[in-house]
Amino acid sequence: MEQNLRIPGPTPLPQSVREAMSKPMINHRGPEFKSMFDEISGRLQRLHQTTENDILIFPGSGTGAMEAAVVNLFSSGDKVLSVTAGVFGDRFAKIAKAFGLNLDVLSFPWGQAVDPQAVASKLSGMPDAKAVLVTYNETSTAVTHDLGAISKVVKQAGKLLVVDAVSAVGAINLETDNWGCDIVVSGAQKAWMSPPGLAIVCVSKAAWEANKTATLPRYYWDFQPAKTSALKGQTPYTPAITNLYALQEALRLIEAEGMQNVFERHVKMARITREAVKGLGLELFADPAHASNVVTAIRMPKGIDPDEVRKVLRDDYKIIIAGGQQDLKSEIVRIAHLGYFKDADIMAAVNALGEVINLLKKR
Ligand SMILES: *Cc1c(COP(=O)(O)O)cnc(C)c1O
Repeated sequence: MEQNLRIPGPTPLPQSVREAMSKPMINHRGPEFKSMFDEISGRLQRLHQTTENDILIFPGSGTGAMEAAVVNLFSSGDKVLSVTAGVFGDRFAKIAKAFGLNLDVLSFPWGQAVDPQAVASKLSGMPDAKAVLVTYNETSTAVTHDLGAISKVVKQAGKLLVVDAVSAVGAINLETDNWGCDIVVSGAQKAWMSPPGLAIVCVSKAAWEANKTATLPRYYWDFQPAKTSALKGQTPYTPAITNLYALQEALRLIEAEGMQNVFERHVKMARITREAVKGLGLELFADPAHASNVVTAIRMPKGIDPDEVRKVLRDDYKIIIAGGQQDLKSEIVRIAHLGYFKDADIMAAVNALGEVINLLKKR
């Protein structure tokens, strides 16, 4: 029986995306590949709301794209500010640290949003910082930071803006050009309605400038050969052709629906989900002013074990929801409304959650 997969990635695939993956292999140096690759790049550019920034696609996951951003922009000892309010913000800081950057971390409580003014005052004391690393949608806490406002203070301070938009771009409005995002990273398995396996990076002119002098070691993730090849409709090394078939079809679906309509669909579904959760008498985890449109985090009542809730949902309802990560493991569950979904699937998940909690309360 098919599961109702309601986790924030991998997200469910439309039927036509699944079918696209059964197409035969093609020569990755031939005209058919070039035509597909150019189409995908053009669509991704439009969906990133940029006219000039480059799209690079690597076989890999979102974390690979984050690492790619770090090794392509910086040299050992470069000063950067990492802004975090959850697991994925912390991950960006860890990657920067692993590569020997001179890191300053600005943290906010989990469930809260990044305060752009705090970023501004932090940056005023960091004149030699090169860049700010930030998460757009913090999937672990179901909070969407105000990237528009954060970008203003980062640009005023004259820093590069490096955005983890893995669970955002494609589902939540992200204005790469207007906001001056220098790097935007994402993974195919979240908003892009595609299988896991592709890391997507969007690179600005200023990021290319930084890339020229960045000396961190890199080979596979090096942006330069990726761009040289992309100009020929190719990739430097063997591309994940099957994953690209899927992405091509998914992007066609997204653009046929219309980017604004896709955003609106997520806004609407998130609102319905939060109302339904509150209707069950349950408490939302995220600050309501910054609640995410792609995932909802729900606090479990006292005495209710989130893992037990998820197990019953899986065994008895075939509904798969996410637990909390790290410190939130015993506190929350998360229901995703990200990418391809039918409203009924999400309502079924919320209603079943209510039933299971009532059942467990009686035990
Ligand atoms: C899922 C996710 C990642 C990590 O992506 P992987 O594809 O699992 O490596 C990074 N950041 C955010 C915000 C995410 O939601």
